[in-house]
Amino acid sequence: MSAADFIQVNTPRLGAREKELVNECLDSGWISSEGPYIARFEQAVAEKLGRRHAIAVCNGTAALQVAVDALGLGPGDEVILPSLTIISCVAAIVRAGATPVLVDSDPHTWNMDVDAVAACITPRTRAIMPVHLYGLPVDLDPLLALAQRHGLAIIEDAAEGLGGSYRGRPCGSFGTLSTLSFYPNKLVTTGEGGMVLTDDDQLALRCRRQRNLCFIEQRRFLHEELGWNYRMTSLQAALGLAQVEAWDQHLALKLALGARYQQGFADLPGIQKPAVAGIHGDANIYWVYGLVLDDGHPLDAEAAMRVLAQRGIGTRPFFWPLHEQPVLHARGLCQGLRLPVAERLARRGFYLPSGLALSVADQQRVITTVRECLQ
Ligand SMILES: *Cc1c(COP(=O)(O)O)cnc(C)c1O
Repeated sequence: MSAADFIQVNTPRLGAREKELVNECLDSGWISSEGPYIARFEQAVAEKLGRRHAIAVCNGTAALQVAVDALGLGPGDEVILPSLTIISCVAAIVRAGATPVLVDSDPHTWNMDVDAVAACITPRTRAIMPVHLYGLPVDLDPLLALAQRHGLAIIEDAAEGLGGSYRGRPCGSFGTLSTLSFYPNKLVTTGEGGMVLTDDDQLALRCRRQRNLCFIEQRRFLHEELGWNYRMTSLQAALGLAQVEAWDQHLALKLALGARYQQGFADLPGIQKPAVAGIHGDANIYWVYGLVLDDGHPLDAEAAMRVLAQRGIGTRPFFWPLHEQPVLHARGLCQGLRLPVAERLARRGFYLPSGLALSVADQQRVITTVRECLQ
């Protein structure tokens, strides 16, 4: 097997329209975050998700930070979120000086166990941060009800749920603030990029300020708060405009990719496949296609991934639970906390090549190889 035969875990889908719009942007001379491209891209995504405001930023991690800061979260405030997610979620909370409260995963959906959230609410709780893990929409209704009852904000991390919907409404339309990433493995990519979405005029203004060093309107270079330079460039926004045009196509590709994997592994014993849909029938859009090895399976995720790599198949492990992160323990957070489902998923779970440009032939090779190696 030559290096060229290695099937990467992700390959983005970029076409002629991307080149056309990026070139048009270059020709226009608008290459910073000034000019028309950012606003056009923001409007295109806001329209897709039915949101009033969209604020483009330089990546999804920055989007989460801007959302946390726009809400004014800080010392003494608690935010409830799943343990099995990317570090970006907790980093935003910890950097703001607020306290993360982590909940375990649901063993069937791999999403946060929404039934565990109510018991985590204290007088200090200010927000819940649900994450649509690996493309399966979180069961949001119980969380929205809790938020309503206790006056909490929802920070919806929809980076992996983009294109999906929950009870007929798009993922990314539910949060007081919702966040997206446009990393190359996401449904829409700008290379690096992210976005915050909200319907609240005041919060939108705060996000725009946070994104751009907290300049204020009255006097340029006078600052009442510290912000960030998290601006997106127009070149990225131009790329994003072409990607938004391909949104429906990308979604169809993801659904087809997931369906082929599900069928390819339908009779494969000893392995848990992703849920096809959430409890209300909301389709998994297979941001990535994960597998979880049963406890009785002779291999753990690490060993399975090693065998597959030798056979030319790229994979990635599941997230490592936040409550087991040394960086949080070092800050005196989450020490001694046990969340057994998340711990098990991290050790038994990994995902297969799931990129939008993965060919059917290459996917067939992945399926055949997985069957041979993990049978
Ligand atoms: C990709 C991702 C992010 C952050 O993305 P970056 O753009 O890489 O900073 C945040 N949350 C989730 C759930 C993601 O999948």
